[in-house]
Amino acid sequence: MFPTRRLRRYRKSEGIRKLLSETEVLPSDLMYPIFVWDGRTEEIKGFPDQKRWNIDDPKLFKFLEKLFERGLLSVLVFGVATEKDEIGSEGWKDDGAVQKFVKKMKKTFPEIVVATDVCLCTWKKDGHCGVVENGEIINDKTLEYLAKIALSHASAGADIVAPSDMMDGRVKYIREKLDENKFFNTLIMSYSAKYSSSLYGPFRSAAESAPAFGDRSTYQMKITQSKEALLEAYLDYEEGADIIMVKPALFYLDIIKTLKEKFLIPVSAFNVSGEYSMIKLGIKSEIFDEKRIIYETLTAIKRAGADIIITYFVPEFLEVKIFS
Ligand SMILES: [Zn+2]
Repeated sequence: MFPTRRLRRYRKSEGIRKLLSETEVLPSDLMYPIFVWDGRTEEIKGFPDQKRWNIDDPKLFKFLEKLFERGLLSVLVFGVATEKDEIGSEGWKDDGAVQKFVKKMKKTFPEIVVATDVCLCTWKKDGHCGVVENGEIINDKTLEYLAKIALSHASAGADIVAPSDMMDGRVKYIREKLDENKFFNTLIMSYSAKYSSSLYGPFRSAAESAPAFGDRSTYQMKITQSKEALLEAYLDYEEGADIIMVKPALFYLDIIKTLKEKFLIPVSAFNVSGEYSMIKLGIKSEIFDEKRIIYETLTAIKRAGADIIITYFVPEFLEVKIFS
């Protein structure tokens, strides 16, 4: 007898396959992370093809312009410190690297959405995301500093501030400070489900933010947890987050899917430095075909439910936009 239903009919030609395609990654889904500082532009060890950019480097603006011409709409800015201290005060300086860069971005590319990472780890000597006292990370004291950073970014013109610290109550605290200063329209994209992952290595060398002692397991979530991710997202939602984030993306597609199903607000996913570097090394070693692996990576994250994909693969994806 004949098969009752032939699913291979769905795959019979490129035209049919495209017609029926459920998931398409668009350039406007992507957010491109960039590292900026007051120092000179340099390569980052262990982080292939990524740079620590000088905030005024014309090459950076040319490069970004190309990406925007091809449909990219947003960037996520990470600052790198030139001078660290005990509390991370470079983070909220009006003429700090991030603040100057955001101003320049908004002037040069007014239509582009500029998001900024808000945390203390880059700016502090100890490399922790919160205020440290006697070897402990002090939650509530940290909020004040995070809010200072968020406010200074909003004042510089950031469209979205993105707290990545995983302290309790920070979204509410930041929202209140923004509102008090009339930044009602600045969005908060909260790193809601940020796992204590082994995939952040290249990022830490980029931002020079590795903790000087201990690790981040008292604030980032243990990799075993999924209900806790829901709770974190729920609290951030209740506190006023506009976008909730899952980080990393690829080992946490289940979490992206759950948050997408349970919440009515947009979900972003951070395809982190370790995921990127693994795949890059695989491409360099000819284990993977570049176009196909990048397409598969980003499609998987979108299929899981991400509305925004934060990824270092933006340049590769846009240069090779049409995949066969
Ligand atoms: Zn941090």
